[in-house]
Amino acid sequence: AQLPKHLSGDQTAINEFLDKFDVFLLDCDGVLWSGDHLFPGTVETLELLRSKGKQVVFVTNNSTKSRAEYQKKLTSMGIPSSVDEIFGSAYSSAIYIARILKLPPPKNKVFVLGESGIETELKSEGIEFIGGTDPAYRRDITPEDYKGIADGSLLDDNVGIVLAGLDFHVNYLKLSHAYHYLARGAKFLATNLDSTLPNNHAFFPGAGSISISLVNMTGQQPIALGKPSQAMMDSIEGKFQFDRKRTCMVGDRLDTDIRFGIEGKLGGTLAVLTGVSKKDEWEAEGAPVIPAYYVEKLSDLRG
Ligand code: PLP
Ligand code: CA
Repeated sequence: AQLPKHLSGDQTAINEFLDKFDVFLLDCDGVLWSGDHLFPGTVETLELLRSKGKQVVFVTNNSTKSRAEYQKKLTSMGIPSSVDEIFGSAYSSAIYIARILKLPPPKNKVFVLGESGIETELKSEGIEFIGGTDPAYRRDITPEDYKGIADGSLLDDNVGIVLAGLDFHVNYLKLSHAYHYLARGAKFLATNLDSTLPNNHAFFPGAGSISISLVNMTGQQPIALGKPSQAMMDSIEGKFQFDRKRTCMVGDRLDTDIRFGIEGKLGGTLAVLTGVSKKDEWEAEGAPVIPAYYVEKLSDLRG
């Protein structure tokens, strides 16, 4: 397989690269910033793209924040943006449930394993849900819970979907509810399947490491709505109607971002080395995902 073209420091190659695309789908964490640390030159690089008339879309697998909260984060980092330019896996999940899955009422309620970002986006699409950040689920399981979950008296008959994202308060009680809804035939969705979640210190468990316990219990695989799921690509395209051949996905993670761009048949993929994936991943014999381009850091595009 062909190795990616290295753009850093090569102005001719950078110019050719920029001329090839009208739309840039930008992963956020690991590309623009790491946690709360904005990478130097991010703001200027985005200004450069916008000054060349490029459309940018911020595409994140982070389901813990709604689009509005993400926009606040971008603003606090000094990055101008509008809510419409932001696509998160919580929003992608809400769109999928409301506009594609369209389960008929009354059995169309969602049991949420996740944080408020998911709840906000479900609300924005008019979807009913339980679980999530409700304090009633943030406690130890009791003998009454075992009994009521088993006989169904503590379960909501209208739940038809279990949606698993990153839940910082995941516990045995919530997993037990989720498992029993799935066992009763609820559809199994996941905001994203990221195995890990990097922060400033180290890697921590990602959303996929929570939903995998439900996979283990049920033997079912969830439909995932974040990168690399093409359900997310389709809903982004539904909103922006871009020409895929003139669109480039930029990301730090080969198994989510770069795969998302390749499977979406975009015109290009650009890997940055400021996040999860390292060069040796694509240089390895039989590497499954190889980007078309790479730079050490996003701001190398400024030349
Ligand atoms: N999931 C969670 C909960 C996160 O906090 C993050 C990064 O902040 C991610 C996923 C990865 O996000 P991205 O797709 O922007 O790299
Ligand atoms: Ca990332």
